[in-house]
Amino acid sequence: MNNNNWLRLKSLRGITRTGKKLHIDVSVYAKELSKSLHTKKRYSAKQRTKIKIKSSHKLQSILWKNGNLELLFDKKLQNNQINYYNKYDAKRKMYQYIFNIHASMLTKSQTLRKKGVSNIKLSQYNPNMLRLVIENSSPIKVRFSKKPTKIIVRIGSNKIIHNSVQYQHRSKTPTRIDRDKIIVIDPGHGGKDPGAIGYRGYKEKNVVLAIGKELRNILKARGYKVYMTRDGDYFVKLRNRTKFANRKNADIFISIHANAVSKHDAKKTYGLETYYLSKSRSSRAKRVAAIENSSDLIDMNYYGKESFLNTLNSHNIIAANKLAIDLQRSTLASLKKRYKYVKDAGVREGPFWVLVGAQMPAVLVETGFITNPREAKRLENRTYQKTLARGLADGVQRYFINCRKSRY
Ligand SMILES: [Zn+2]
Repeated sequence: MNNNNWLRLKSLRGITRTGKKLHIDVSVYAKELSKSLHTKKRYSAKQRTKIKIKSSHKLQSILWKNGNLELLFDKKLQNNQINYYNKYDAKRKMYQYIFNIHASMLTKSQTLRKKGVSNIKLSQYNPNMLRLVIENSSPIKVRFSKKPTKIIVRIGSNKIIHNSVQYQHRSKTPTRIDRDKIIVIDPGHGGKDPGAIGYRGYKEKNVVLAIGKELRNILKARGYKVYMTRDGDYFVKLRNRTKFANRKNADIFISIHANAVSKHDAKKTYGLETYYLSKSRSSRAKRVAAIENSSDLIDMNYYGKESFLNTLNSHNIIAANKLAIDLQRSTLASLKKRYKYVKDAGVREGPFWVLVGAQMPAVLVETGFITNPREAKRLENRTYQKTLARGLADGVQRYFINCRKSRY
């Protein structure tokens, strides 16, 4: 083991331990740690049968119930026993949804079937780890919930689409929307955390709350179910924001922020950008992420932060990328109808702590630079806030329509 890897494992152990103590969701690190510790060796099928089963939890049965896959275990499951992530396997051209479960199975590998899903396979990946892989040629929705001795995996949508479609007559061309889609809006910062302080002392926490509320009103009026992580001036911990969205079973998570640069660059730097979660370490993404992450990562040491950036998984990355593109396009279109000097600063990947742990596509919108005089004045202006929120709402609508077109 080289020095770097040793340091990485040490940091991961540290984060996992501290996280548990502080009740922070550290499943991402725990996954990375267990991966690093357990995947050095892949076992052949023959070897696998010879390996003594080490894990103390045993899978007792697998069954389909109400269209959901249920895994039943002999003992109470711990939170850190399940690691879920997804990825796109470019070689197989498959979207994969993977559960690593610290347990063993009593029977041999199983292939399961569900209509509309390419493959579902459950196998003993290594002596301690059970692996459930669900894969499909197009993205599908996979959720899970943990009961004391059970894991329930929901695959695809159980909702009946025909009941949820309606025509909206307000716009020139009727647009189909989904009434049952759930959106969580997350106005950044709040309370003791003002976020960025910009031109004339304007505070990020205030403008993003105003925009968030406008967005909520518009989406509600269009028939969506909407929740906000905060609707007043109070502090919400970053980790509780995605937790809230998971609990609400949200379809998408939109975190709203305003950007900032140093005084020296304030006049020339403006524009709107949208981020989706990834481990990208471009200097720009790192800089923005460093500002947005700071309120909760203050007590993490250097190696903790480094390792955080290194070990992020690419959760729902494809869908989040699409959502980011739709939001960015629609918002720019809405603003450009009314305003000059509207700048597209792009859709980018970034390592944002607030997006980690979301079980749905999650994006972070930097609505503009609060340090730029012109943009700061606009961000404070009611009409601009409304125009921006209308653009975001159009983006949400466009995203869901695109999802349906690609049978997502
Ligand atoms: Zn912010």
